[in-house]
Amino acid sequence: MLIAVIMSIHLSEEAQYSKQKHIFGAMVVDAFVVNLLGLASQIYLAIDAWRDFITPEGIKYILIAEKVFIYLLPYFAMRYVMSLFQLELDNIPKIAIIAIPTVYAVVFCFSGFWTDFFYFISDEGKVVYRYPQGATVNIGVILYFIFATYLLIKYTKTLSSEKAIALWLFYFLMMAGIPIRIMSKSGSVFEFSISIALLLCVYTFQNPSEFVDRMSGAGTRNALNFYISTSLIQKKEFTILGIHVDKLAVILGVEPMEAASDLLNQISSYLKELCPDGNLFYPGEADFMMVFPDMTPDESVIEKTVEQIRKRFKEPWKIRGDEIKLLQSPYTIGFPEEVDSMDRYSEVMSVLSKAILRQNRDILRVSDLSLKMVEHDKKIDNIVKHALDDGHMEVYYQPIYTPATGRFSSCEALLRLKDPQLGFISPAVFMPIAERNGTILAIDKYVLSSVCEMISTTAAREYGLEYVEINLSIVDCIQTNLAENVLKTLSKYDVKPSEINLEITETSEEGINAVMEENVRKLMAAGVDFSMDDFGTGYSNIARVANMPVKIFKLDKSIIQSAFDSEVNYMVMYNMVKIIKSLGKEIVAEGVETGEQARQIIKLGCNHIQGFFYSRPMPKDQFVEFLKEHNS
Ligand code: C2E
Ligand code: MG
Ligand code: MG
Repeated sequence: MLIAVIMSIHLSEEAQYSKQKHIFGAMVVDAFVVNLLGLASQIYLAIDAWRDFITPEGIKYILIAEKVFIYLLPYFAMRYVMSLFQLELDNIPKIAIIAIPTVYAVVFCFSGFWTDFFYFISDEGKVVYRYPQGATVNIGVILYFIFATYLLIKYTKTLSSEKAIALWLFYFLMMAGIPIRIMSKSGSVFEFSISIALLLCVYTFQNPSEFVDRMSGAGTRNALNFYISTSLIQKKEFTILGIHVDKLAVILGVEPMEAASDLLNQISSYLKELCPDGNLFYPGEADFMMVFPDMTPDESVIEKTVEQIRKRFKEPWKIRGDEIKLLQSPYTIGFPEEVDSMDRYSEVMSVLSKAILRQNRDILRVSDLSLKMVEHDKKIDNIVKHALDDGHMEVYYQPIYTPATGRFSSCEALLRLKDPQLGFISPAVFMPIAERNGTILAIDKYVLSSVCEMISTTAAREYGLEYVEINLSIVDCIQTNLAENVLKTLSKYDVKPSEINLEITETSEEGINAVMEENVRKLMAAGVDFSMDDFGTGYSNIARVANMPVKIFKLDKSIIQSAFDSEVNYMVMYNMVKIIKSLGKEIVAEGVETGEQARQIIKLGCNHIQGFFYSRPMPKDQFVEFLKEHNS
């Protein structure tokens, strides 16, 4: 029954790799047949009435068939593990290792028809082995066991630990089951262990949510990483053709689940058609990745595929009955020629994502990235580590306008790094690096102290400044002592908790959210308010974000700015404003650059506006002057 359930789960799911799916299917069917035949022979033994029904000749067929199917199981198990690691039967020694024991076992089983040399079937319908020749068939099982152990040792490092454990257990149960079946009179221990082994696979390697993205139907990030790492171990050649779809993440963030999923599906079904074996992955956000086995990026197939994709993207896609045009940027990565390790891969991907924004629409190659960018990152890493001590950091303030009062009653603190050689370095460049190398904690502490000092030592309060928005990195949010540290700094400068507002961004990682929410709760209890920054980028889960106890939502500048290039994008912004207002939250519109934008946004009912139209971020003294001039 368990196996029947597994079979039905298996048939109802769409698995990523068709080969793996077929082998798994064959293995399940095989196990099922073994069980059925086992059952038939047991019934024959147990119920006298059946003996009249089935002839001794008939039971012989059943027993021999059962044996054949039992000996096919290790073969399928072996092939299954190989398919997991994309190992092909592509040379003679491999084929021999896999085929000989199985062929021997099958011949061994069928020999029961003609000779009694290996075993015979007794009058009661039992299989009786002759020793020692009857044991020779187990040599094959042992050979498989050795080969599988070798594969597992070699490849399990490409798996996460829970998957590695599951695979070892699978193999142990499979392999232990065979001798148990042969030695014990009853097969139930064997059948049970096989069922458990298969069930284990259904929940790990055959689990579609692990390997197939529900929204798009393409392979997940896990599946892609697994493909890359196993292929790298085997030194297989392949090329990834990546398609970066501009603004996709933004659109997905604000559309309802079904509409988003439908859009992803349209793109992924189109791309799937174009890649060999439908090997398409959607590792998340805005990139689709097509895998071309046995190919270098120079081959003309790649260029032709890109040409087709370009043509398709000139046509609109459908979303909720409307049409939307999307821009795409293609890039290629050649393995193992250009990228030969997982570390190098993530390095290339992080540089790629920055390079895509700057490039024109030719195919971006790894060689275009040049090591310069990687080196540039390293240089900045070094600058960031010393910038605080060297006094190269300064906090700037960007005023935020409140239309209802016509005053600038708040501002955002934005950090500036000025290197003597490189000049100003944008926080968009150095913040991710500071987060990686850990200096972010000291940096944000410095920003908080500077803000408090500004509030307590300048005339900003008198000129109408009510509160300052301060960015918190996600790294701050997971510090358990964040709340204590912030409150200590506030009291040191005699700044009220209501005079600062902390900006956080959404994440999708549950662990982070738990600690973050705890910090938010503690600080809110003390009177500090929060804003949700960059809302509309990333992967917004409106339902969850709506439950975050923030007072303000900051609509990201990409939403505001794109709203004025097309009707659909305008509707996106319009609906986001409506949702946020219906939740009873305040809205800050970021990145307003023109008077026309400001006018429209005020008309929509945003509570606060921040952007170059009113003022760029500026140093402390200039900011205080600004308040004095505009708020009196
Ligand atoms: P953010 O918090 O979303 O900050 C708003 C960014 O938009 C700032 O970029 C600001 O200069 C820019 N901006 C404001 N108005 C306009 C406009 O009208 N047009 C355009 N194009 N841009 C506008 P900035 O200063 O480069 O900061 C980038 C990001 O770096 C910030 O995004 C924030 O996430 C991070 N950041 C900046 N300072 C800090 C800090 O002290 N701590 C932390 N943790 N992050 C910071
Ligand atoms: Mg911010
Ligand atoms: Mg922002």
